[in-house]
Amino acid sequence: MTEQPEIIFEKIAARKKELAGKVLILCHHYQQEDVFRFADLTGDSLKLAREAADSEKYPYIIFCGVHFMAESADILMDDDQAVILPDLNAGCPMADMATVEQVAAAWNELAEVCGGQTVIPITYVNSSAGIKAFVGNRGGSVCTSSNAERVLTWAWTRGEKVFFFPDEHLGRNSSKALGVGDDEIVVWQRGKKLGGNSVEQLVKARTILWNGYCHVHQEFLVEQIDKWREKIPSIRIIVHPESPWEVVRQADYYGSTERIIEAVRQSEAGAVWAIATEVNLVNRLKKQHPDKTIHLLAPTPCTCATMSYITPANLLWVLDNLAQGKVVNQITVDGQTAAGAKLALDRMLEI
Ligand code: SF4
Repeated sequence: MTEQPEIIFEKIAARKKELAGKVLILCHHYQQEDVFRFADLTGDSLKLAREAADSEKYPYIIFCGVHFMAESADILMDDDQAVILPDLNAGCPMADMATVEQVAAAWNELAEVCGGQTVIPITYVNSSAGIKAFVGNRGGSVCTSSNAERVLTWAWTRGEKVFFFPDEHLGRNSSKALGVGDDEIVVWQRGKKLGGNSVEQLVKARTILWNGYCHVHQEFLVEQIDKWREKIPSIRIIVHPESPWEVVRQADYYGSTERIIEAVRQSEAGAVWAIATEVNLVNRLKKQHPDKTIHLLAPTPCTCATMSYITPANLLWVLDNLAQGKVVNQITVDGQTAAGAKLALDRMLEI
């Protein structure tokens, strides 16, 4: 028999009290409200992992996000801290679009045709620990949606070209913002020989983009921006850089989830916004800023379906087990992978 939500909420609150000092609950901005209400720390993936690593030492970290986020937290935590993902199916489809095997094969093919040139691998933080390690072990760095342009600038001081994983849109948006021309950007299509490019194109390219994408942010369209502007000429449009270039180019502002939150917070009462990011964050901003009018850019909700696998019920299941001294759904990155991934993360922090 399924329990009423209120009963589950009461039980979670009681378990949190019982386990105080032992458990830290981290919630990503895209998490549904019924889970988010129990967060000890909130933020984007890297902010959460770093704040948890810097905070008082809790033996158990429950990450209410997706798999790669829990991996990053495990890499940054001490060995005697356990990171737990309440549902192991909560993955990130975009991160899953770049496997180590695929990337290694592409890397080798590229080396054959661009042998004399230095290629710097860069991975978005939304990638598996294996990809981060691959990049770290080859002199590359992680980047986030807030620092991608800085990291790319750094990469071009060290090599002729950048191989960017897994988000095609963030890589293109950041490259173009830095003045890289369309003829210097190519897309590596998974599964095709030389990624579907000619040798000449690859030799000329400054940015090679893996063709991964986030289905949530890819749903935003230029027509949606046009419609809002026609309806409300004073509306401000802000989009996440995982959205396609045409959308980013037409927006008034673009930036990471943290930047979106800050832009709305700093705007004056009465401001009207249309926001292109995950619907749970947009709905939360609506509630937090009743003095402003906030819309989702798209007409239908854009939800991160896998993030929503984390529910109050499985959060309670984790807490119930911890109360009995049992750790379930622990995410562990093996030492060798963690060391390589940490190289890439540390490089980013130095840049
Ligand atoms: S919103 Fe997109 S990039 Fe973020 S976790 Fe979900 S699928 Fe992955």
